[in-house]
Amino acid sequence: MLNHYTRGAGHPRLVNILAKVYSKQLQHEIHPMTNVLTSIGAFDALYTTFQALVNPGDEVIIMEPYYEPYKEICRLAGAKVVYVPLAPKEKDSNSDGWVYDFEQLQTAFSLNTKAIIVNNPMNPLGKVFTKDELQPIADLCVKYNVLCVADEVYEYFIYGGRKHYRMATFPGMFERTLTIGSAGKTFNATGWKVGWAIGPENLISPLQEFHHNTIRTNPTPLQEAVAVGFETEFERLDRADCYFTTMSQEMEEKRDQLAGYLREAGLRPIIPSGGCFVIADISSLERGDDTKSPGHSTRMESIGNGYSKWTQQ
Ligand code: PMP
Repeated sequence: MLNHYTRGAGHPRLVNILAKVYSKQLQHEIHPMTNVLTSIGAFDALYTTFQALVNPGDEVIIMEPYYEPYKEICRLAGAKVVYVPLAPKEKDSNSDGWVYDFEQLQTAFSLNTKAIIVNNPMNPLGKVFTKDELQPIADLCVKYNVLCVADEVYEYFIYGGRKHYRMATFPGMFERTLTIGSAGKTFNATGWKVGWAIGPENLISPLQEFHHNTIRTNPTPLQEAVAVGFETEFERLDRADCYFTTMSQEMEEKRDQLAGYLREAGLRPIIPSGGCFVIADISSLERGDDTKSPGHSTRMESIGNGYSKWTQQ
């Protein structure tokens, strides 16, 4: 039956194992039928979230620098974007040293705020937020009754022994958080385009309804295969032989290799603590013509999971 339509809100084998994985990761019991929606990649889960839950005129907070499509997804939902920038503490900070200003964050929240997107690890900067950095965001979400769209597609791309804290695990956050994931990232195979949203029933149900009336059903064979992948890794989650562990180690080596090439080319890489991009400061470049390079421009390079800035999905 794998060549035929499967359950619209998610192939049973996949939602069952996602429920097991996320019950552990989110420290909250996830019901496969009511707390999960599978989607055509994380992108579809994001788009569906905004179409289903955000109304024209609602304000959405996005932290800069951000994954470019967020802006368009908000625009298509009629939302007004309020930006909160991260800035380097020092000129040569790595991604850990890029921080938000609490006053700015606080000012961004208001009674008009419907949602905040928290992308952790953050594309393209590669920042992995600490617990202390996430707690004030969670507190403001609770205070203003704001939906948190936790784009955690790079949850397993964490370097240097850092820890990834999931937004849904903070007090008062499960009931207002949609955790977005991607098999393309998790299994380092971006062409597969299988994603999901995990959250409380009252938030997942409108997503399931919107998805039912747009995409209706995601490809069955891909979901079956991703389920098998998760079943295998679930048995060895957090162990040294888990694919998520070995993949992250491989990516860290590639990060260092790419950073070396960028340095050799005379650029200054901003070393990411997670994710799969390296941003580099290109202000040292002299072009030798009348189009001088801008003062603090950055340029994104892929560290090798199959896409670059030219094909970023
Ligand atoms: N969120 C972020 C932060 C991403 O970087 C990407 C892909 N580049 C997506 C979502 C979309 O993921 P998918 O390919 O699973 O649709």
